[in-house]
Amino acid sequence: MSRSADTHCPYCALQCAMTLDPVSSADAAAAPVTVTGRDFPTNRGGLCKKGWTSAELLRAPSRLGAPLLRGADGVLREASWEVALDVVAAWLRGTRTAHGADAVGVFGGGGLTNEKAYLLGKFARLALGTSRIDYNGRYCMSSAAAAGNRAFGVDRGLPFPLEDLDAAHTILLLGTNVAETMPPFIGHLVGAQAAGGLVVVDPRRTATARLTDDGRGLHLQPVPGTDLALLLGLTHIVIAERLVDLDYVSARTVGYDAIRRSVASWWPERVQSVTGVAALTLRRLARRLASGGNTYVLTGRGVEQHVDGTDTATAAINLALLLGLPGRAGSGYGTLTGQGNGQGGREHGQKCDQLPGYRKITDPSARAHVAAVWGVDPADIPGPGVPAVELLQSLGEPDGVRALLVHGSNLVVSSPNVAAVRERLAALDLLVVCDFFLSETAALADVVLPITQWAEEEGTMTSLEGRVIRRRRAITPPDGVRDELWILAELARRLDCSATFDTDPELVFEELRLASEGGIADYSGIDYALLDRGEAAYWPYPRGSEGSPRLFAERFAHPDGLARLVAVAARESAHPSPLPGELTLVTGRLLEHYQSGSQTRRVPELRDAQPEARAAMHPSTADRLGIADGELVELSNARGTVRCRARLTTDIRPDAVFLPFHYGDGQAANLLTSDAVDPVSAMPEFKTNAVRVARLVET
Ligand code: SF4
Repeated sequence: MSRSADTHCPYCALQCAMTLDPVSSADAAAAPVTVTGRDFPTNRGGLCKKGWTSAELLRAPSRLGAPLLRGADGVLREASWEVALDVVAAWLRGTRTAHGADAVGVFGGGGLTNEKAYLLGKFARLALGTSRIDYNGRYCMSSAAAAGNRAFGVDRGLPFPLEDLDAAHTILLLGTNVAETMPPFIGHLVGAQAAGGLVVVDPRRTATARLTDDGRGLHLQPVPGTDLALLLGLTHIVIAERLVDLDYVSARTVGYDAIRRSVASWWPERVQSVTGVAALTLRRLARRLASGGNTYVLTGRGVEQHVDGTDTATAAINLALLLGLPGRAGSGYGTLTGQGNGQGGREHGQKCDQLPGYRKITDPSARAHVAAVWGVDPADIPGPGVPAVELLQSLGEPDGVRALLVHGSNLVVSSPNVAAVRERLAALDLLVVCDFFLSETAALADVVLPITQWAEEEGTMTSLEGRVIRRRRAITPPDGVRDELWILAELARRLDCSATFDTDPELVFEELRLASEGGIADYSGIDYALLDRGEAAYWPYPRGSEGSPRLFAERFAHPDGLARLVAVAARESAHPSPLPGELTLVTGRLLEHYQSGSQTRRVPELRDAQPEARAAMHPSTADRLGIADGELVELSNARGTVRCRARLTTDIRPDAVFLPFHYGDGQAANLLTSDAVDPVSAMPEFKTNAVRVARLVET
């Protein structure tokens, strides 16, 4: 079966629209479909180079075409699906019997369709009976999600359509490099740029920061890890200079007095000494933000992937609330979700503490609702599990997880402190990985199950706007691969689970609708027919309603309708200054690669453009260390060592070194990152880890 299909890009949360047209000639061996950008409000026909080359993923020579089983000699060999699933089911049953249900764990992903994310949560809780499920969104959106829930009572990345940014006069971008991570996005920044109101906060002069090079905008380049102090300083100025929208604050928020006290000592000169950003610049920015006109505050992973990420995102929300932005027409606060289904992936039950509909798993009424949809007793649904890092730290421990199923994650590249993760995975009795390729994590597995890709399957995704969109099949998958819905259903059957596990995505979505009904992320008014008519479907979309493109116009989602201003404090201990001889490691993304690079490193154009990790450092730093451009260097700390070539650039501060996180094995940036976590969101510290950098002598 091949047909032209209107669908969306397989990668990031912008979910650019594209049309796939099957190729019938011999060329199909390389790329069985052609990709054309399609007009859609977010990308307006544009795609980045990842999107344009995405068809090459489908016939990449290294794509897996049959299940792999590790033999007694340690070698992975092809096996039939029947045998592979029988082996997995027998191990899972045996582990459960010997060690209890929580000895089996599930690790999901923010790239799974809504249907897969939903069914994975149901599978973990009913077929496995385990509470031990979490996903890689813990590394991505957890801080912003926690902050949004705390302040607004709901977590939808952008509570307004992306197009609203077009009419902005001022946009404050905190820790996000959209010009490289989602290039079509910059089409929505043009208005603010022209109005002189584009402000970028980033310790690197990124492609996004360079949009302010015309002198009309601002690029603030603070000391890494001082974002919270910077935001407290801006809040101090807004209050001290009487720039607060007092009518809005008194009518729509609670907590103002506590905020005033919490920022009283963050006067601009103190903030300057901490962040390195001039007090004058801070004052100028605060006044610009409060000058009226359409104003947005947007955060990204740069300020969120910290051990104080929730408080930093909260400080950004506090600032936006004091300025009266959230819910005001043409203004607002938002966080830019990164993974393809990073929004939907956190709504349907993959998180350790949630049930579908973004419901709390500890809430008796939520349990009763979902249990009724699943046809079980509420007591049959396990309680809350543990977040990703804690789950991984338990692997192989006597009371921990001993058998792990991984869907849509490349743990030994994307997890913090990956050397320790690799050791723990090796201590498991059973590791099962579902993937398209033999990723670094799949290469460690006992069983690898090859799965369908985006152009071969139906389903839905939820974009960074909270808009539910259709993924459509253009081609038939290769013979040897299977859809994850089918895999879960087959395993559930082998585990004698009596609950229903549909394999038709539309039927799974119908069940998801019921399970979400009445929850925070209510999808009950959405169905495939509505999506196929092209109607914009923003959640919450209760049955019989018209959906919610813009939130907070009248009220926030807390029961009293008011937003919470939450006082937060900057802890010096969260980001200790590097010792003499150390630099601060900042990790992040490149234009050519996506997440762990497991997919994009297999696309020749992308791989050839960025074939290996390069450590970006300032020429003055390199000079001090005796390092020339392109020379081999070693980055090290107590957790690990990375060897790669140096790239000298004045775009980075002299006290920092940047390493992209798309590479594996000895170039994995996460060999150097800490698995200390944010106490609220359990987000690890990905952005400010001290490292030593030394030149390596090539032999
Ligand atoms: Fe795909 Fe994101 Fe690039 Fe759009 S910006 S083409 S969704 S990777």
